[in-house]
Amino acid sequence: MTASAFSFRTVPHIHAGAGAARQLARLAAPLIGSRKRVFLVTDQGVRKAGLIDAATASLEEAGLQVEIYDRVVADPPKSVVLEAEDKARGFGAEVVLGLGGGSSMDTAKVVALLLGSSQTLDDMYGVNNATGPRLPLILIPTTAGTGSEVTPISVLTVGESTKMGINAPALYADLAVLDAELTYGLPRAVTAATGIDAMVHAIEAYTSKIEKNPVSDALALAGLKKLHGAIETACRDGSDRQAREDMLLGALLAGQAFANAPVGAVHALAYPLGGVFHVPHGLSNSLMLPPVLRYNASAAEPLYAELASHLGLHASTDGLVTEMERIADSVGIETRLTQVGVSHNDLPRLAEEAMEVKRLLVNNPREMTLEAAQACYEAVL
Ligand SMILES: [Zn+2]
Repeated sequence: MTASAFSFRTVPHIHAGAGAARQLARLAAPLIGSRKRVFLVTDQGVRKAGLIDAATASLEEAGLQVEIYDRVVADPPKSVVLEAEDKARGFGAEVVLGLGGGSSMDTAKVVALLLGSSQTLDDMYGVNNATGPRLPLILIPTTAGTGSEVTPISVLTVGESTKMGINAPALYADLAVLDAELTYGLPRAVTAATGIDAMVHAIEAYTSKIEKNPVSDALALAGLKKLHGAIETACRDGSDRQAREDMLLGALLAGQAFANAPVGAVHALAYPLGGVFHVPHGLSNSLMLPPVLRYNASAAEPLYAELASHLGLHASTDGLVTEMERIADSVGIETRLTQVGVSHNDLPRLAEEAMEVKRLLVNNPREMTLEAAQACYEAVL
C-alpha cells in the first residue's frame, strides 16, 4: 500500500432516533425477511430495567418468536458464550439481536458467528481468523461507550483473567439501532465511565499508528466533540434527551473510528485492571488515560494538540489531558488505582500483563516498554 491508501468499513445500516426500539420490526424487516426466530442476547440488569420490552413487543407484534438469553456478565467468559450458543441452537435461532452494553453485544456477535459458520470458538480468536458466514445480526446499545454496535470486535475472558479478542469483518452487524430512551436510566457513574471510554476511543483512533486514515480521523474528531459537549450534562441530568442522543451518537462515531484505526496503550494498560481487579472497562480506561497520554506526548504532541484545539482547548497534550482530568473530577469518577483496590505490589504484574496485549500496543504512537507501563500505573496509584 502507498502511504495514502486505506480501507474503511462499517455497519451498512444505522438507524438513530429516540423510541426507535419500538419500531424494531419495521426497521429490521428487510433484514429479517421470512425468518421467524429471533434470539435476544442481554443481561439480567438490562432485562429487569425493562429495556428489552419495547424491542421484544415490536418483534412479537410482527409475528416473530423471541427467545431471551439474559445470562451475559461483564467481561463475558467463554463459558457464557458457549451456553448462549447452546440455547440459540436449541431454539433454532435464525436472527441474533444483541441488546445491552458491550458485553451483551460482544456475546451476540460471537453467537451469530458460531451458528452461521462451521468454525469453533477457538478457531476465531485473533485478527481476521473468524471468516463467517454468520446469522443476521442486529445490535442495540444501552450504554453510550463501547461503540460495539459498529465494531468488528468481541472481547472475551478466557481462563481466570486473560482477555482474548476476536476481530474480523464478519463481526460487523447488519443493523445498529440507537435509541436514546434506553439510556435515560443509566446511573451517573456508568454514564461517566462509559462516556469517558468513548472519548478514549476517539483519542486513540486519532493517534493510531498504523491504520489511521482520513475517514477515521473525521469520525474521531466529530465523535470526541459530541461526547465532550454532552458528558457533563448527561451525568447531571440523565433524562436530558439532547445530551443522551449526543452521547450515543458520539460513542457510535468513535466506535466507527476505532473499528478502522484501532486503540492503543490506554486500552492495553486498562485490560489487566479489568482482568485482575474486575474494574469496569470504562473506568479502567478513564484511569489510564492521563499517564499514557503524557507518556505518548513526545511522539504524538501535534495530534493531541489538534484534538485539544478542536475542542476549543489550549492546543497541546497538556490542554487535552488537563481537560480530561477536569471532566473525570466533575463527573465524580475514581481517578486513582488505590480507589479500585490496587496496591503498589500489584504494579509489576499489571505491567507484565499489559505488555501481553500486543495486538493493541502495536497501534500506540510511542513504543510502550515494561518500565514505562509500570511508571504509568505508578503515576495514578
Ligand atoms: Zn474502550
